[in-house]
Amino acid sequence: MTKTILFIGLGNMGSGMCANLVKAGHKVHAFDLSDAAMKAAEEAGAHPVSSLTDMDASKVEAIVTMLPAGKHVKQVYTEGLPETLPRGTLMIDCSTIDVETARDLARIARERGHAAVDAPVSGGVAAAQAGTLTFMVGGEKQHFEMAKPILEAMGKNIFHAGGNGNGQAAKIANNMLLAISMIGTCEAFNLAERLGLDAQTFFDISSRASGQCWSMTSYCPAPGPVESAPSNRGYKPGFAVPMMLKDLGLAHDAAESSGSAIPLGEHARRIYERAAEMHPDMDFSVILPMLKKGELKD
Ligand code: NAD
Repeated sequence: MTKTILFIGLGNMGSGMCANLVKAGHKVHAFDLSDAAMKAAEEAGAHPVSSLTDMDASKVEAIVTMLPAGKHVKQVYTEGLPETLPRGTLMIDCSTIDVETARDLARIARERGHAAVDAPVSGGVAAAQAGTLTFMVGGEKQHFEMAKPILEAMGKNIFHAGGNGNGQAAKIANNMLLAISMIGTCEAFNLAERLGLDAQTFFDISSRASGQCWSMTSYCPAPGPVESAPSNRGYKPGFAVPMMLKDLGLAHDAAESSGSAIPLGEHARRIYERAAEMHPDMDFSVILPMLKKGELKD
């Protein structure tokens, strides 16, 4: 069934997600601080909103937020919601934010009579445009069921991870593993090449042996073996280094607050700090050329 949806945050990810909601037949009101982003959303068939607080939101059934960080989402939830928003609106936050803020947002929404889920995504800009994102949803089962048909217009795998905040917990743990596996894959390619194997030969062997992982088979950091990988486009993102560093910062905070040891996660964070200083505009698989050039020697 089609819905009336307010979409807030029409950036790299949100623009494609908003367009897919329109394509699925939903009536979408769109808001962003950037005029260019608003114009693009209008061209994609959404209805631009010039002021969130002043808009007529009496028919809005769900709000989707796709914003840079927790403070932006909190600002919208506490100060930015339309006066006329009906009670019982479903709040779906797809941004990647910390677990505590996600749980706080759910409480704020509940106090205002709304339902809330956190629904961060896996998959980059291409998946957002193609409608093939993976959603990890935290919230009550009945609210997950309400969100599912909306999320299905933007993604192909929709998982219920448990209560509020658990979607973010899944996302943060997953991306910490991704960082570690990417660094490991880069080290393995660098070592194998220095020992005399070419990248394709090592890929053919390791992708069918016990070193096989997503960073290798879907996103190979060595140019050649995986056509669609950023390594074949001069390491243009893809998933940019500062985004990975942001997620590793969230993993650091989550580990501190839960008393979890993440020695490799912390090491990965230091490596991506170096990458962010040296190659802020590159894809997170840039670790391989950094190793080759000796940029990670100490
Ligand atoms: P982005 O910076 O391209 O887009 C964010 C948009 O939010 C911008 O257009 C900005 O103008 C808008 N914005 C900021 N504050 C606002 C406010 N108060 N009201 C309205 N609009 C506001 O970021 P992105 O790459 O689209 O990422 C969005 C979220 O998705 C982040 O939390 C990110 O961690 C997560 N994410 C990104 C990727 C990726 O590959 N880019 C992948 C997975 C998850």
